Amino acid sequence: MFEVVIGLEVHAQLNTKTKLFCSCATSFGAKPNTNVCPTCLGLPGALPVINKEAVQKAIQLGTAIKSKINQTSVFNRKNYFYPDLPSGYQISQFEVPVVDLGELVIDFPDGRSKTIGITIAHLENDAGKNIHENNYSKVDLNRAGTPLLEIVSEPDMRSSEEAILYLKKLHSIVRYLEISDANMQEGSFRCDVNISIRPKGETKLYTRCEIKNMNSFKFIEKAIRFEVARHIEAWEDGVHATEIVQETRLYDEATGETRSMRGKEDAAEYRYFPDPDLLPLIISDEMLEEYSKIPELPDEKKARYVKDYGMKEYDASLLTSSLDMARFFEEMMTSNIKAKNATTWLSVELKARLKEGVTLTNSPVNATKLAQLVQNIENGTISGKAAKEVLDYLMDNDVEIEEVIDTLGLKQVSDDGAILKIIDEILAANTNKVEEYKSGKEKLFGFFVGQTMKASKGSANPAKVNELLKQRLA
Ligand SMILES: [Zn+2]
Repeated sequence: MFEVVIGLEVHAQLNTKTKLFCSCATSFGAKPNTNVCPTCLGLPGALPVINKEAVQKAIQLGTAIKSKINQTSVFNRKNYFYPDLPSGYQISQFEVPVVDLGELVIDFPDGRSKTIGITIAHLENDAGKNIHENNYSKVDLNRAGTPLLEIVSEPDMRSSEEAILYLKKLHSIVRYLEISDANMQEGSFRCDVNISIRPKGETKLYTRCEIKNMNSFKFIEKAIRFEVARHIEAWEDGVHATEIVQETRLYDEATGETRSMRGKEDAAEYRYFPDPDLLPLIISDEMLEEYSKIPELPDEKKARYVKDYGMKEYDASLLTSSLDMARFFEEMMTSNIKAKNATTWLSVELKARLKEGVTLTNSPVNATKLAQLVQNIENGTISGKAAKEVLDYLMDNDVEIEEVIDTLGLKQVSDDGAILKIIDEILAANTNKVEEYKSGKEKLFGFFVGQTMKASKGSANPAKVNELLKQRLA
C-alpha cells in the first residue's frame, strides 16, 4: 500500500492598482504592451520601488492563516532566461519571506477537519505572456511586474480530495480578504502541484514531480489522480528509481494525462542573491498593527450563522462558501425575514435560475427584491408555489413584485370573510357529505379543502382554509 504526498504552491495575483515595483496599471485585458515602463521592461538603470498596498495584502493573508510576519524580509533575484522576463531575473523572496509558517484548516463533508501547514507566503513579480500564433511568437509585457503572492504549503495532503479542499478554502479566504480577484480562468489564482508517493508507514520523502500552472479544480483533481497512478505503476514494476525523476510536468486537458515538460531546477540553479536595488523590507510595529486588520473569515462567519440564526452547519457552510453568497444572504436578512426561508430562496431557488455566466453580483433579482418575495410568502400574500412563478417572471423582467403578483393573478386570499363565503357555498352544496363527516367519516375533510381550493381557483390561503373549515364543521 502506498501513501500519497502532496504539496501545493499557489500563485494569487494581488489586486493592487499598480505593479509590485513600478506605477504601471495592473488592469487585465489592456492592449498589449501599453501598461509598461522602463522598470517592468527591465531597461538598464531603472530602479524598483516596493508597492505598499501589496505588502499590506500579503500581511492580511499572513494574519488570516495565523502566520508569523517577518518584520524584516528580503527580496532576492531569481535568475533565469525566458522571453517574457526582460530583466533576466524575477524579484522574489527566498530565505526571509514576509509571511512565515502558517496553517489552514480543511473541513471534510463528514465533519472531520485537518490542519495543513503553510511553509511560507512571499511576494514576487509575475512575468509577461508569450503568445504563439501562426508562425510567430509574440510577447506581451502588460503582466510583467504584477504582484503575486506565492503561498507554499507543507507536503501535508494525502489525497486529491484533501488538495482540492485546501485549494477551495484558500481561494475563499483570498476572496474574503479581497486581496485578489482569484479568477481562475484569467489565471489570477493558479497552482503548481507537487506529488510523490511512498510505501505506507515510511516517513521519507521520495522524488516528486511538479505539475505546473493548473487553474481549474476539476483538472487539478484529474491531474493528481493520473500522476498518482503513474507513480504507483512505476513502484509496482520496481522501476520508480529510474522512471520517476524530478521534473516539471504539464497536464493535457484533452488526453487527461500529464507529460514531461522539463527537468525541475534546484534552487541553486537560480543563483538567488539579494537584489542590490532593493533595501530589506521593514515593517514597523504601527504598520503591522494596521495591516493585520482583517474582515470576518469564512469559518468565523459560519460559526456566527449557526449561533445567531440557529442554522444547520450544512446551510451555514453553503452560505459562507463564497463572499458573494454570504453578502447576498446578509443583505436579505436586513428585511427581517426568517433565515431558513432566506437560505432556501437564495441557495436553491435563485441559484438554480441563474443563467450560465450570471453570478449573484449581477443577478437580475437582487437581495432586496428576493427578500421582498420571501416577505410576501411569510405574510401570506402569495403561496410558496406562486412565489416560484413570480421569481421565474422576475428573472426576465425588471418590474416590481406587486405588479407581477397582480399581472399573474397570484394574490392569495387570506381574508376570512372571502374564504368563509366559499366554504359556506361548498358546505351548502354537499349537505350529505357534511352529515357523513359529522357522523365520523373524518377523511372527508380533505374533500372539503380540495373543493374550497378549487372554487377559489387556487388563490385561497391553504392554512386559512384548513382553520376556517375546522371551525365551520365543529
Ligand atoms: Zn512598469
